[in-house]
Amino acid sequence: MFNRFFGQFSHDIGIDLGTANTLVYVRGRGIVINEPSVVAINQKSGQIVAIGAEAKRMVGRTPAQIVATRPLVAGVVSDFEVTEEMLKYFIRKVHEEAFSLFPRPRVVIGIPSSVTEVEKRAVEDATRNAGAREVYLVEEPMAAAIGIRLPIQEAVGSMIIDIGGGTCDIAVISLGGIVVSRNIRIAGDKLNDDIIRFARDEFKLLLGERTAEDIKIAIGSAYALDEPLEATMRGRDLVSGLPKEIVVDDSDIRRAMRHSINMLVNAVKTTIEETPPELVADIMHRGIMLVGGGALLRGLDRLLAEETKIPVRVAEDALTAVVRGTGIILEDIDALKNVLVSSGFERTPA
Ligand code: ADP
Ligand code: MG
Repeated sequence: MFNRFFGQFSHDIGIDLGTANTLVYVRGRGIVINEPSVVAINQKSGQIVAIGAEAKRMVGRTPAQIVATRPLVAGVVSDFEVTEEMLKYFIRKVHEEAFSLFPRPRVVIGIPSSVTEVEKRAVEDATRNAGAREVYLVEEPMAAAIGIRLPIQEAVGSMIIDIGGGTCDIAVISLGGIVVSRNIRIAGDKLNDDIIRFARDEFKLLLGERTAEDIKIAIGSAYALDEPLEATMRGRDLVSGLPKEIVVDDSDIRRAMRHSINMLVNAVKTTIEETPPELVADIMHRGIMLVGGGALLRGLDRLLAEETKIPVRVAEDALTAVVRGTGIILEDIDALKNVLVSSGFERTPA
């Protein structure tokens, strides 16, 4: 009774706790926060210096005692306390803007499909400690599929691939459940590392992480381009220790990332091989949807289509699919209860 009464006034929120970006959706208002999942900490005092966009600007530019960390490096909660602080900061930021009379919010939060029971508990506890009244977990590929309005509750197969910073989630969904899925740790961060390694091995050039990411976004591609692209890599010469610039083009960067891209393609193919034939037929007909920031890599859709012989499309607003999905779930938690996952807390072990 009270819950229902409060429910009408509380600012229920949906969260995409990504390895690279955290997005927050507030019921009735839409996406209100979209910031990097980065926390800057003073190691001497243990105090948090900055969170989000401000912290990301500090990456690679901090004095010795301050470290800018990403608490969710590989899609899992690698640093529980810092994750909790980050969630607290974002939830409070939303909550403080509203009247303080509002009760604590209900929270729907996305988690990668491969997380363990222990990690689910960690996310759930962190969210509750951060101020949530009730916490609902949803697997990210499911949230993304809901976010881009795939017919997830129907008896038809949909395939969605979410390429984030730390992980790539590949999932086949039908009748409100994930039928086949795969989670690999090859995504945006790995491609940045590939570019750093390439610059070092090929040109004895030391690149920063941010620079590598900028190059990837500026000229990176998974498929040969019609018009070549060039960019200047700026870093430090490993031999002389002095600043150095090298001009590279898209084919260089493609070569740098080739191995990772192949692994990604193979993971998609393997997932298709494991999918029941009726659902494969649906997917061939309806196509594969790409979401997440990594989906924006030039030509990835084309490469995947060629390799799988299935049409592939990048979703509109690929970076916000998961959080929009949590928002849709918030609007009607009861109708979508079947897609939520339990932390295994109340369940008896199988
Ligand atoms: P997460 O869900 O893990 O937080 P996101 O879906 O926010 O990740 O995607 C972040 C990743 O997408 C980063 O690795 C970033 O470099 C990459 N990315 C963003 N835009 C582009 C682009 N235009 N081309 C290639 N990669 C991109
Ligand atoms: Mg994500």
